Amino acid sequence: MGDGLRPKPPAREEDIVRVEELVGRRLPDWLRERLLVENGFDVDDSIGVTGRRWSFLPVMDRSNRKRMTRTCNDIARCNDRSTAGTLCVPEGAVMVGSALASSPDLWLLPDPAYPSVLGLDLYRRGPGGSLVSMEVKLTDLAPTEEQVAALVEPAEPLPTFRYNVDPQACRRSPNLCQVCGRRRGWQCSEAWSPVCPWCVAEGRVGENKNIIFSEWLEQPGSMPVDHGIDSAIIAEVLTRTPYVSTFQELLWPTCCADACAFVGRLTGAQILDLPASVLAENHLELFVDSSCPEFDPEDPAVLGFLCLHCGEPGVVLDMS
Ligand SMILES: [Zn+2]
Ligand SMILES: [Zn+2]
Repeated sequence: MGDGLRPKPPAREEDIVRVEELVGRRLPDWLRERLLVENGFDVDDSIGVTGRRWSFLPVMDRSNRKRMTRTCNDIARCNDRSTAGTLCVPEGAVMVGSALASSPDLWLLPDPAYPSVLGLDLYRRGPGGSLVSMEVKLTDLAPTEEQVAALVEPAEPLPTFRYNVDPQACRRSPNLCQVCGRRRGWQCSEAWSPVCPWCVAEGRVGENKNIIFSEWLEQPGSMPVDHGIDSAIIAEVLTRTPYVSTFQELLWPTCCADACAFVGRLTGAQILDLPASVLAENHLELFVDSSCPEFDPEDPAVLGFLCLHCGEPGVVLDMS
C-alpha cells in the first residue's frame, strides 16, 4: 500500500463521513483520530499480540484529482459488497487494513452495545469467510517494550537453537504460550498459536510443522546411507527447533552429514553476496538484477542456510 517513506496527508472529516455512510457504520474513534492525522497509515505491532506490521486503508480524499487517485483503494471500495472479496463475510463486517507484505486482512465488526458503530475488537478471515477473533483491540496494537514487560514474567535468557539461528525465530510477545500456559515474554511461532522458545527447546510441542527430509520420512528406513544423517539430528530439527514458516513444503538442506542451520530470510543485499555457484545452482540470477523495479526479496522468499561444519551457504526458494 503506502510507500512508507513519508507520512501521507491527513484525511478530511467530510471524506471520513462519506465512507461511513457507504459502509453503513461509524468508524471507531481510534481509527477516525488516526485517519485525521494520516490518511492511510502503518502500525508496527511486531512486539504485540499479532506480531505483524499492519497497513490501514485510507478514505478517498476528494479534495483534488491527484489525491483521489492515490486514495481510491479506500475502506469504502474494499468493502463494496458487489465485489467478490467481501461477499461471504458476516453482515456489517468492515475490512480496515491488511498485514504489510503478507496476509491476512484486518476486520472490524459492529459493536454489540452500539451496532451503528464498529467495535474495537480485531478479526481476521478464517475458513469459508468466517471471521476469527485476533484477541486484541485496535487500542492495544503496537505496545511499547515497557507495556510488554509489565504483562509478562521477568526475562530469562533465551534458549539457543542449533538448527535455527534466525534472529527473528523468537520475538518479544505478550502472548500466552499454548503449551505451558505462561506469559514468558517471548514466542517462536505464528501469533495464532503462540508457543514459547523454552517449550520448543524442551521438545514439549511434539512434532512441529517443519517438513524436512520429506522423501525419507515418507519411507521409513530408506534414508540414504551416504547422507549419513543421524536420526537424532532429524528428531532435533523436527521437535526441538523453531518452526520455519513457508508456503511450499520445505526440504531442509544438509551438508557434511548434518542438517544445516537456518539463518533467516535473506535480504536483497545478502542474496547478492552469495557465491556465484550458489546463485547459478538456484537460478537466482534474476535477483542479481535487483535494479529492476519488480525486484521483490519477499516473493519468492530466499531462505538462507549455513553448514555448521564447512560453512557452505545453502538456499531454498519459497514462492507463494
Ligand atoms: Zn511454553
Ligand atoms: Zn558442509
